[in-house]
Amino acid sequence: AVPVLTIDGPSGAGKGTVSRLLAKRLGWHYLDSGSIYRSLAIAVLQQNVALDDVAAIVGVAQALVLAFECGDELVVKLNGLDITAQLGLETTGNAASIIAALPEVRAVLLQKQQDFKQLPGLVADGRDMGTVVFPDAAHKVFLTASSIKRAERRYKQLKEKGIDANLMGLAKDIEERDRRDRERATAPLSMASGALFIDSSEITIDAVITQILDFIR
Ligand code: C5P
Repeated sequence: AVPVLTIDGPSGAGKGTVSRLLAKRLGWHYLDSGSIYRSLAIAVLQQNVALDDVAAIVGVAQALVLAFECGDELVVKLNGLDITAQLGLETTGNAASIIAALPEVRAVLLQKQQDFKQLPGLVADGRDMGTVVFPDAAHKVFLTASSIKRAERRYKQLKEKGIDANLMGLAKDIEERDRRDRERATAPLSMASGALFIDSSEITIDAVITQILDFIR
């Protein structure tokens, strides 16, 4: 069987960094499921499809052709075009969380995510990795942090990329997005049973990684 480590939690808890480093350490594949929802959001916005036009969004999802190129930085191509720069934008994240609430959309994207499960193993990062996409995963983690810490980290990340941001605005967006992710009817953000719970508010990325490595060994 292919070993799968799922890392779920709200945005900004450090899942991306932790998952990427763990995948590297373990020599496993990495699934950034949020980037699939984000890529779909970019395609939907590009095609001027309304965020409540379910049938049209499902059509865009079915036609979605994505290529992930994992080098030092993840490069994502949508229908052959590099969309990496747009992936991290707040407008993309917000649109992603709106369309991610549609069960029809989640159904179309399910198989695309499960296809990442390949030898020698997979680290899967998202909201419903341990609950819905890989319920049989050998190892499950729920990684969270206080919303103010998460807003601060997001603020720093954007600043480093030279993107203008406002801390209070970010905190508000993060809370709004979390609420939508937790309260949606399909695959809401919740801790999978048997998951290791980690609050990264007051500990370093290295400490989080050590805890997870101890847990899976
Ligand atoms: O993790 P990230 O911020 O990139 O995800 C963007 C949005 O995609 C999330 O706010 C969430 O609504 C959605 N998402 C999801 N299920 C996942 C990953 C992301 O619903 N497994």
